[in-house]
Amino acid sequence: MGLNLTALLARVPQYTRNARHFRSMLQHSTLKKLFNLIRVEYAMATRHEYVSGKPYVIIVDPINKCNLRCPLCPSGTGDLNRDRTVMSYQQFTEIIRPFIKYAYEISFHNWGESLLNPEVFKMISFAAQHNIASNMSSNLSITQAGIMGEIVGSGLEYLVVSLDAASPEVYRQYRRGGNFDLVISNLRSLIATRNARGSKTPRIEWQFIVMKHNMHEVEQAQTLAREIGVDTFRLIPVGFPFGVKNLNDLRREWAPDSLPMSEPIDSTCFYLYRSVTINPDGGVSPCCMVPDAKYDFGNLLSDDFENIWNNDFYRSARRLFLSKTGTGCKIVCNSCTKFRKMGDVSS
Ligand code: SF4
Repeated sequence: MGLNLTALLARVPQYTRNARHFRSMLQHSTLKKLFNLIRVEYAMATRHEYVSGKPYVIIVDPINKCNLRCPLCPSGTGDLNRDRTVMSYQQFTEIIRPFIKYAYEISFHNWGESLLNPEVFKMISFAAQHNIASNMSSNLSITQAGIMGEIVGSGLEYLVVSLDAASPEVYRQYRRGGNFDLVISNLRSLIATRNARGSKTPRIEWQFIVMKHNMHEVEQAQTLAREIGVDTFRLIPVGFPFGVKNLNDLRREWAPDSLPMSEPIDSTCFYLYRSVTINPDGGVSPCCMVPDAKYDFGNLLSDDFENIWNNDFYRSARRLFLSKTGTGCKIVCNSCTKFRKMGDVSS
């Protein structure tokens, strides 16, 4: 294989897309947003537990139901521990109001297949009308008539298509319930629709999660992606559900043998400053990796954001990164190993 996969995957972060964030900032900035961003970044750099600025990356899950059953996704395995529901457009506009003047981008996905929410295109258009970038992740294994025109017409700026194979046989081992040929045909149709309308958006990313069963198809997939005309072909290392008990078994089953164990990031947790994660039931999760409703920090359908953003949960979580003595509250962040906390021993 020409690609050095191990070296490549060691360099690629799983959860961040710096180039996309940077583009959103260039295209959607205002003075107000910039001042807010500086306040947030200052609070994070100085590890303040009280944040006067507002989060500027908003993660909204429009639906937490999915048509696939991927074995490493809590939605696919039935381990979401949250009611399966759909956010309405009216709820979305209520929820998003406090962030409109400060948000650079909204991610319209988390635990479900967002295209199954019939009102998601109105939500994306709302973001476009308010000078906020939008992105979405989809399995694109869908058959709704006319949906390619809706995707392009909504003003969606960036679409990530989850497609981790170059053949139906390999695809179906992980994307259970999905249809490889349908995804490829939808990709071609989406690009044709975008080109026919003379639109530059959405930019389309083929995201390939590298796992043990599919790594031999990486180069074939890259060639196919080029032939279809996607804008970006992106490899990411396989990740595992948050707090899962049988992690070693899952690693043995799905991770390439050469994949290094991930080390905690040497930084305060940026999710607690830059972003807010909102579920279809209004629940605010500490970050996009935690699905369980019992770990919510608040609910935006029953409380104001001002009452949540610096509440005991948020302040306790931020305190984990500024003091060795720990938090005041029992929160999921106590047991999280994504970022190196003050009490952790540096390697
Ligand atoms: S500390 Fe961990 S669980 Fe808490 S918000 Fe950050 S990444 Fe999520």
